[in-house]
Amino acid sequence: MAKRPILILPDPVLRRVAEPINAVDARIRTLAEDMLETMYDAPGIGLAAPQIGVLERLIVLDVATDEEKTPAPMVFVNPEIIARSDEMSVYEEGCLSIPEFTSDVERPARVTVRSLDKDGAEQIVEAEGLLATCLQHEIDHLNGVLFIDHLSRLKRERVVKKFTKQAKLGAA
Ligand SMILES: [Zn+2]
Repeated sequence: MAKRPILILPDPVLRRVAEPINAVDARIRTLAEDMLETMYDAPGIGLAAPQIGVLERLIVLDVATDEEKTPAPMVFVNPEIIARSDEMSVYEEGCLSIPEFTSDVERPARVTVRSLDKDGAEQIVEAEGLLATCLQHEIDHLNGVLFIDHLSRLKRERVVKKFTKQAKLGAA
């Protein structure tokens, strides 16, 4: 396994739409392992392939919340939301590509997600709570959407401006 660098806002790759994965093979399993290692190291609870510069429809997450914090890695290939609840819920979200910024985001409280697992078998996950939010956040990444896109325009522009300035300073 290898840790990969995480792209930071306003990297344009974060705004691109990722391609479907045709075969869940050794390359994809290695990519998923690298993503999990990168996510745990950050540390974070979810990561989408575009965040490490790979424009393929793969996300990993671990929302294990038991007392021992037993790792519960989840891998979703070509995830697709096939049902969402009318009921909404609000979570304070953050993103490894937008470090040190969090904000409340309202999303459907429950979603059903169809995908392939790390062995290429179809998996249907009915999610609620943090898992539902996390899945929607990561699937957004595959479509070039960031959680700040769910905020008001004013708030979003303020964040983008700050990170654009930081990137310029870093490059100088
Ligand atoms: Zn994110």
